[in-house]
Amino acid sequence: MRNVELLVVSKMRSDEEIMQVYREGQRLFGENRVQDLLLKKDRLPADIQWHLIGTLQRNKVKYIAPFISMIQSVDDLPLWQEIHRQAVKTNRVIPCLLQVKIAREESKEGFDPHELHRYLADGLWRQWNGVSVRGLMGMASLTPDQEQWKREFRTLRAEFESIRDNYFQGPEFNILSMGMSADYKIAIEEGANLVRVGSAVFAS
Ligand SMILES: *Cc1c(COP(=O)(O)O)cnc(C)c1O
Repeated sequence: MRNVELLVVSKMRSDEEIMQVYREGQRLFGENRVQDLLLKKDRLPADIQWHLIGTLQRNKVKYIAPFISMIQSVDDLPLWQEIHRQAVKTNRVIPCLLQVKIAREESKEGFDPHELHRYLADGLWRQWNGVSVRGLMGMASLTPDQEQWKREFRTLRAEFESIRDNYFQGPEFNILSMGMSADYKIAIEEGANLVRVGSAVFAS
């Protein structure tokens, strides 16, 4: 069976809540705001691997570049380039996911799929070797309609395969991050191998 990794989303959780999960063996945690991430990183154990999963402003990349395990929310070209620049400065290659907009809501972040294909074809990004593109991330619409989630996850999986086959044939492009507390089961059925779960973990 395919391996599915769990990223525990610890945004808005106290250190004590996070430590309870940590003591059960969890090491992979995600935050959506740089400010909170920096504070928590300083207070919590050093062997936690942090992912950034929220909107990232270009001027804040430099604060997380030295330590971040993965940036899941690369949603435009200038941000991608800035991550490359800061990675080079700190002598790192930063693993990233390209966030693709699959939801209907206007408010959702991410590359429009057509735009992303155009950017990838343009090839500017090929010089940005401070970034290792490891796969795609997406969020389904805020709706109770499970069929809608399914369709959106399928779309993302098709994008993942098409982008992999056209641009990233190497083995490192292998992460499909989709699914949260409400929809992770469906996301896994539709091919996710990284799920980002917050409330379902902390509620139990
Ligand atoms: C908050 C958040 C999650 C987790 O949401 P839950 O519903 O608490 O599981 C996952 N992904 C992103 C991008 C988030 O902002």
